[in-house]
Amino acid sequence: MKILFLDQSGKPGGAELCLIDIAKPYRDNCLVGLFADGDFRTLLEKNHIPVQVLSTKSIQVRKESSFAQGLASLGQLLPLLAKVVQTARKYDLIYANTQKALVVGAIASFLSDRPLVYHLHDILSPEHFSQTNRRIAVTVANRASLVIANSQASKTAFIEAGGRANITAVVYNGFDSKNYQIDESMIHQTRQELGQEGKFLVGHFSRLAPWKGQHILIEALRQCPQEVTAVLVGDALFGEQEYVQKLHQQIVTLGLENRVKFLGFRSDIPQLMSACDLIVHTSTAAEPFGRVIVEAMLCGKPVIAAKAGGAVELVEHGVNGFLVTPGESQELAQVISTCLQESSKTAKIASHARTTASQRFDVTNINQQIAELLAKLHQRVRQ
Ligand code: UDP
Repeated sequence: MKILFLDQSGKPGGAELCLIDIAKPYRDNCLVGLFADGDFRTLLEKNHIPVQVLSTKSIQVRKESSFAQGLASLGQLLPLLAKVVQTARKYDLIYANTQKALVVGAIASFLSDRPLVYHLHDILSPEHFSQTNRRIAVTVANRASLVIANSQASKTAFIEAGGRANITAVVYNGFDSKNYQIDESMIHQTRQELGQEGKFLVGHFSRLAPWKGQHILIEALRQCPQEVTAVLVGDALFGEQEYVQKLHQQIVTLGLENRVKFLGFRSDIPQLMSACDLIVHTSTAAEPFGRVIVEAMLCGKPVIAAKAGGAVELVEHGVNGFLVTPGESQELAQVISTCLQESSKTAKIASHARTTASQRFDVTNINQQIAELLAKLHQRVRQ
């Protein structure tokens, strides 16, 4: 089966990293078409996945855009659309991995007579998207032959927004647990590089954006024992510079300059996670899936996650991690302090999480689930 994957982003966010794992088994028979150039293209190339940047201009529709702004962007879409339609004719199906890719993919699917699959990596709720964007996404997604939701939470929100349940299947992100086994000497070296020996190091791994809640961790840190320090790993991928400035200000105001470090975007996540004592996830709005939560588990690190959306499907409180109320820094500080004090109990929970996560999110199994869904669809359209 020849697949044309479409993704609007040149930057490697969670949806893009997931796509690398999905496209890998098809690399001899697929193309990833991007609507913008960037580090994601380089990552695909490193993984020997054929990639082509189909547009030189980025599409100016944001999550909160109005209908008029959406319409105005149509002019930019036409040359891209023409290219996608022409390319799609060489493939058996179109696999849209993001919302703008869905819109372009749906029109191309109609014009090239190729079935459309949509991988839904978002929670289509008012917290995340304007009403216009939700309406467009659901209307267009309902024309797809298959919607793959990255969690039950994403599927539920899709259906509540008017999405068709009968075309929607839930498939979690897959991970290769080998990539998260880091040897002790490397862990020691990374900790030295971070200058955090003798500290209780809390890691936060996410792009810097208000809803990812880095400010909640900083606020919590103030309420934790002095030995608790934090690294914030990630960058403002989508222009959230104002938030970054606010975080720096907050750190100065709270006098935490010596306890928080910004590491920027990094591609050595397993090494960095393994060098931490604890990983926290602090999203203030429901997380569609939460790759970082599973990655922390695979590194054998205890994880505290904000109790909403997909995170609730990944973490069972006290069994394979900890859940806290989103936005509640005091509660977060309490759980961080408990993890520090009850280290052997916490280590047992982390070790259990590592074993179960490596089975539950095994990339080979997950890819098999996707392959079966695509094969069924392929058969159906050929009949
Ligand atoms: N990530 C990364 N480098 C960074 C920060 C994050 O590679 O500096 C990765 C992280 O390991 C995870 C992904 O980006 O695999 C983020 O996915 P998640 O589902 O947690 O959030 P999203 O970005 O999709 O909202």
